[in-house]
Amino acid sequence: TFDVSAPWLNRVLERKPRTLLHAVDGVSFEIERGKTLALVGESGCGKSTVARLLVGLYEPTRGGMRFDGQDAHAAYRTAAGRQLRRRIQMIFQDPYASLNPRWVVEDIIAEPMREHGILREKAAVRERVGELLRSVGLSPLDMAKYPHQFSGGQRQRISIARALATAPEFLVCDEPTSALDVSVQAQVLNIMKDLQRERGLTYLFISHNLAVVRHVSDQVGVMYLGRLVELADKAQLFAQPRHPYTRMLLDAIPQMHATGRDRTPVQGEVPNPLNPPTGCAFHPRCPHANARCSAERPALQSIGGVRVACHAVEEGRI
Ligand code: SF4
Ligand code: MG
Repeated sequence: TFDVSAPWLNRVLERKPRTLLHAVDGVSFEIERGKTLALVGESGCGKSTVARLLVGLYEPTRGGMRFDGQDAHAAYRTAAGRQLRRRIQMIFQDPYASLNPRWVVEDIIAEPMREHGILREKAAVRERVGELLRSVGLSPLDMAKYPHQFSGGQRQRISIARALATAPEFLVCDEPTSALDVSVQAQVLNIMKDLQRERGLTYLFISHNLAVVRHVSDQVGVMYLGRLVELADKAQLFAQPRHPYTRMLLDAIPQMHATGRDRTPVQGEVPNPLNPPTGCAFHPRCPHANARCSAERPALQSIGGVRVACHAVEEGRI
């Protein structure tokens, strides 16, 4: 079996240049081989921190990840981490920033192969780069061009081809289509779905956009201020969202809800992660909050086949 379970990260702090903290606390999930788990939430909820932890860019202060039965963070600290990095690749949000503008596409896609010692012979590398370009709907002729000669969507395809160069099994995708126009997003998402089917890839797919998540995921985890507040099968989550925050996110999407209610914009702001609210961190924005909510933090627990962290759901109030 293949799972990425993360009995996780009891305290992980990411210090961004602006010293914004994105702590991730007790986020725990598993992903089945060949499936997609999407993590959703507003910016600053810690989604990218989770992504970076999974690929070994950050180390958790507590907790860890099991990949195919192996302790990934123990491996990342040793020579075995190299092999793991080959099997776990990441696709970033910004296809402009993540491709070296001075390199031609052939070198960009071949670089991970060189790094991991896969195919050294020039003709073989070139053939493989051509195949990868074809697999993302580009032409082998594109390998002689520079990133600036491509559109945003094409650049993200190049990023995907580069991520596939080491024949990985698990792709961590951090907002891979968020920088793209809506029409282009759908094309890139379809390519990712085709590649998943053809290659049996497993995805962790990070997005702030539930409409995108609906298109690609099998399971959905909703994050709020560094914690998982709901984790459910996609169909279940969209048909019957349990957590008030999940409901708020769904209500903000047009024509999503079976009830046909009008779109309601997301209310309120994400609190400062440096100074999170007491009790349930969502309580200042929650229409169902009561005294217990501001005093006691709800634990993620299984309720009716989903995992949800909410006192009102637990008490049957909602
Ligand atoms: Fe709202 Fe209370 Fe549930 Fe938090 S625990 S989501 S404040 S009802
Ligand atoms: Mg992010």
